[in-house]
Amino acid sequence: MNQTTISRSIETSGIGLHTGVEVNLALKPAPENTGYIFVRTDLDNFEIPASVEYISHCSYATTLMRRGVVLSTCEHLLSALRGSGVDNCFIELDNIEIPIMDGSSENFVELLERAGLVEQKAARRSFQVLEKVEFEQGDRRMSIEPSDRYEIECVINFPHPFINNQSFHFVFENGSFGKEIASARTFGFTTEIETLRRANLALGGSLDNAIVLTPGGMLNETPLRFEDEFVRHKILDIIGDFALLGMPILGKITAEKSGHSVHAALMSKLLKTESAWKIIEDANNA
Ligand SMILES: [Zn+2]
Repeated sequence: MNQTTISRSIETSGIGLHTGVEVNLALKPAPENTGYIFVRTDLDNFEIPASVEYISHCSYATTLMRRGVVLSTCEHLLSALRGSGVDNCFIELDNIEIPIMDGSSENFVELLERAGLVEQKAARRSFQVLEKVEFEQGDRRMSIEPSDRYEIECVINFPHPFINNQSFHFVFENGSFGKEIASARTFGFTTEIETLRRANLALGGSLDNAIVLTPGGMLNETPLRFEDEFVRHKILDIIGDFALLGMPILGKITAEKSGHSVHAALMSKLLKTESAWKIIEDANNA
């Protein structure tokens, strides 16, 4: 398999979940070996590559920063790109935050499907995991280990009647991201909203872009998209954050109560452990 990009430019717009700002977004074809590059068209086309080295903070969403220029909440769009098998893409936006759309990756996947993919000349590269690397922080645990495919096993536990213990084992195969993961929405708790707003977060949040849980139920009047939508969304976030490694992964990720900061810590530990990974080219082309 060779690298891919989209066959034409596509555009959408929306609001940022945390900043509440309006933003126009355009996805454009990019040359081989570009990866994903964010382009701030409101700041002289300043570029921020989607890379672990630019992770700035990741409390409620993953924020990148390069030379003081910030780009917030990149994970759902990166998840859609990786999940749809796009290797190279320019992501142009005219504000600080990627639009939240409906809180999932579904709109982005539909856009990518409408654009279509085109195969490029260079062989696809993969990030192959050679040794198990683990990260632990209190009761949060995450590891990545060798596998001949990209798979993620995730367990979450929230003391809420809709969640409690949920686990899901996702295997990357043709179309599996679109069917099992893409439409799972982000979620939050009414008990957190005050704290978030005081920290100037979730300013664009609403029932149109998140599942909002009350202590015993939820505010949304439309049903859940999956009974285990919550753990599926966690996998969506993991795929989006691990897209910052810059290429598809050959490895198995295991996550227990992880979050964006744990994802970032594991990726940085993995990259520092040089014996634990190597970059390979697709065998058909090597
Ligand atoms: Zn998310």
